Amino acid sequence: MRRRLPPPLPGRAWPSCRSLFFSALSKTQPFPSPSSRPLARRAALATRALALPSTTSNTQATPARAVKAAAAPAAASGNGKYDYDLLIIGCGVGGHGAALHAVECGMKVGIIEGHDIGGTCVNRGCVPSKALLAASGRVREMKNEAHLKSLGIQVGSVTYDRQPIADHAKNLATTIQGNLQRSLETIGVDILRGAGKVTAPHTVKYALPGRVDVGGTVTARDIMIATGSVPFVPPGITIDGKTVFTSDHALKLEWVPGWVAIIGSGYIGLEFSDVYTALGSEVTFIEAMDDLMPGFDREIARLAQRLLINPRKIDWHTGVLATKVTPGVPGVKPVTIELTDVKTKKVVDTLEVDAVLVATGRAPYTAGLNLGALGVETDRRGFIPVDDKMNVLDTAGKPVPHLWCIGDANGKYMLAHAASAQGISAVECMAGRPRVLNHASVPAACFTHPEVSFVGATEEAAREAAEAGGYASKVKVVKTSFKANSKALAEKEGDGLAKMIYRADTGEILGVHIIGLHAADLIHEASNAVATGQTVQDIKFAVHAHPTLAEVLDELFKGAHLEAGAPAAKAVPVLAKAA
Ligand SMILES: Cc1cc2nc3c(=O)[nH]c(=O)nc-3n(C[C@H](O)[C@H](O)[C@H](O)COP(=O)(O)OP(=O)(O)OC[C@H]3O[C@@H](n4cnc5c(N)ncnc54)[C@H](O)[C@@H]3O)c2cc1C
Repeated sequence: MRRRLPPPLPGRAWPSCRSLFFSALSKTQPFPSPSSRPLARRAALATRALALPSTTSNTQATPARAVKAAAAPAAASGNGKYDYDLLIIGCGVGGHGAALHAVECGMKVGIIEGHDIGGTCVNRGCVPSKALLAASGRVREMKNEAHLKSLGIQVGSVTYDRQPIADHAKNLATTIQGNLQRSLETIGVDILRGAGKVTAPHTVKYALPGRVDVGGTVTARDIMIATGSVPFVPPGITIDGKTVFTSDHALKLEWVPGWVAIIGSGYIGLEFSDVYTALGSEVTFIEAMDDLMPGFDREIARLAQRLLINPRKIDWHTGVLATKVTPGVPGVKPVTIELTDVKTKKVVDTLEVDAVLVATGRAPYTAGLNLGALGVETDRRGFIPVDDKMNVLDTAGKPVPHLWCIGDANGKYMLAHAASAQGISAVECMAGRPRVLNHASVPAACFTHPEVSFVGATEEAAREAAEAGGYASKVKVVKTSFKANSKALAEKEGDGLAKMIYRADTGEILGVHIIGLHAADLIHEASNAVATGQTVQDIKFAVHAHPTLAEVLDELFKGAHLEAGAPAAKAVPVLAKAA
């Protein structure tokens, strides 16, 4: 299905790019003595919420603070044999979460970062994108006269300034980057600047091109690779960073194109369509799969199309690949996109637009790690193979002792909180408390207006698994609408749906999907239930405050019906004491 849009509007001037590469800096701090560890632990916990600056440090954002390059670690690790108990390569949210937890477990930790602290999430991902979504979402809301009128509100004309919105995203990233750095320094994690590579078991070399004063060789009992990912750009697409760009460039919001084609309708493409249409752009999705939003539960995707796509200036081409994209000149020459049918492999159309955002997924950033030195090879796409404990596997499929890989680099679940959770699990394994993260309990969210969130299997996947497992008749689906929720109706935001897929014979929760106001916040009750093995029987009795959006889930859980003979609730309620 496809709608035609008017011809592209002329583009606007493109200001010069600004390098975000911060100068290479590092700092060595002594490892806290055992007596100072509770303090360190408190500091770690206090700063774990990324937005909180440490209590001891200046709250100004100072990402490029001049700190001395670490030539060598401050002190040997607890066992005295290595410089560190744990050395992490890559200081994104995965590496950061692992470092905090390792210190809490009493380990001496070093972390090597080759670019900017906070990695993709803080600098080029979750954080700046949510800032753009917050500002542009407000613009959309303020421009929605009918909605405001229904609440008895009238506003004059609503305008926005692009640069302050862009500055909000940049400043937020800078603030959180500073907070992250301080949270590590406060608890005595050594931050070493440079690109790291393994040279032998327990040994990592790091260096910064052009800096002879930075770098060295360090040893550690355990090494964790947390090098993340970069945007994947399919062949045939030329990125110029101005008219054809990835999310890395788009987040700087250096212009608002009149007509932007977004290649890929996954969550990154969808979030940018939300931002661009709110700021006045027209959007064309180009999607290789037959449907938009592949990977989402189909029913939720259909409703998302009704709420997030159809009412907006968005059209789409599905079942086609953008096989050739040639950059243009803003306001002078359009970008051309050659579309090829996925099935026939024939060129079927050529589009001319002002700009193209390539949102075709992420590629692991694992080149140059010299993994061959430890008998490890990445897979065809560059991901590092790991077992379910995040222990790296060698070419024979055997775990390499003391070598771990977490986050986007292993490709298991490419989300920020998954990276961090994997890091914590791996540290637990190192500490002798084997722990395997249940990825089916990890929630995911798309921060559009309204939001979409889910945990576990889609209805399609759950039914397929049930068919193969011989329990197809036991899989049931329960749904509830936001239209039945008082709080949503008070906000005049009744568009939305929550659905749960579960087993009627056991009460097992197989998947929960939500689209609607604050769906990203609502999903956690379901994901925590899955993580802790709670069943429908358990969560049916949970009490939710009235009137809240959380009652959407209350209604959902209570609407589930179990077969006679299903096991009783596992959780034992703490009963009120008799007076
Ligand atoms: C636009 C966008 C929006 C997103 N929104 C969300 C969201 O809302 N929620 C969510 O959960 N996820 C989101 N993500 C995904 C999320 O950003 C990633 O899943 C997450 O950042 C992965 O964390 P990581 O620690 O594995 O890697 P990264 O964050 O990529 O960090 C890896 C770090 O390692 C460093 N590094 C790489 N190689 C070396 C080396 N050899 N030596 C030293 N250092 C090295 C890199 O410089 C980088 O700092 C988004 C991503 C994008 C692009």
